Amino acid sequence: MIDFSKVRLKMVEEQIAARGIKDSRVIAAIKKVPRHLFVEEALQSQAYSDHPLPIGEKQTISQPYMVALMTEAMELKGKERILEIGAGSGYQTAILAELAQEVFSVERIRSLAIRARKLLYELGYFNVEIKIFDGTYGWAEKSPFDAITVTAGSPDIPQPFYDQLSMGGRLVIPVGDADAQDLFRITKTEGGMKKENLGGCRFVKLIGRYGWEDEGIMNDEQ
Ligand code: SAH
Repeated sequence: MIDFSKVRLKMVEEQIAARGIKDSRVIAAIKKVPRHLFVEEALQSQAYSDHPLPIGEKQTISQPYMVALMTEAMELKGKERILEIGAGSGYQTAILAELAQEVFSVERIRSLAIRARKLLYELGYFNVEIKIFDGTYGWAEKSPFDAITVTAGSPDIPQPFYDQLSMGGRLVIPVGDADAQDLFRITKTEGGMKKENLGGCRFVKLIGRYGWEDEGIMNDEQ
């Protein structure tokens, strides 16, 4: 029997705090959220390892450090309205639900969205809404957002994300080619777009109207 809370604490010390994540609220959220429940049972023993894991439908749950880095870059204080693109397993959604007021998440693959919704509800995250749609359009009806995170790699910065940010809002997004990207933080300021490169990363593709070309069937609910 694995003592998951012990392994989780070790992960936070060795992979998160030791690599420079400083935001104490982010660290507390990662200590709390039971990441192993977001992967299938056969993979639970690896849930706190330093890499992504498959979650089905050729998608992955992001590496713990990457979730921490992206979340810290959003600079959350607790009152924010958040947009996440790519709910996937729902793991980062849970972290965001711990740190902000309301989380709106879009996932294009129906089976993943349904599983994430159910698990987040069971874990008591009632400040989360997940829509099944092409997230490259953002979620205009719920905008503006104080912060947006995109958990899939994009060839460019989709215009709707910038448009749906509030003034001072932060967009954290991997941009690059299909195999490798750089993680950018875009801040919307009165003087225009402020762009910071937070370093190299590797994500699955953001597929949709303002992302990579769709290779399969869209699963939206509408
Ligand atoms: N944060 C998630 C990451 C999942 S991987 C986790 O840690 O579990 C990225 C996710 O983005 C996949 O589930 C994929 O289906 C989704 N995705 C890709 N393009 C999308 C789009 N245009 N709209 C919504 N979701 C998208």
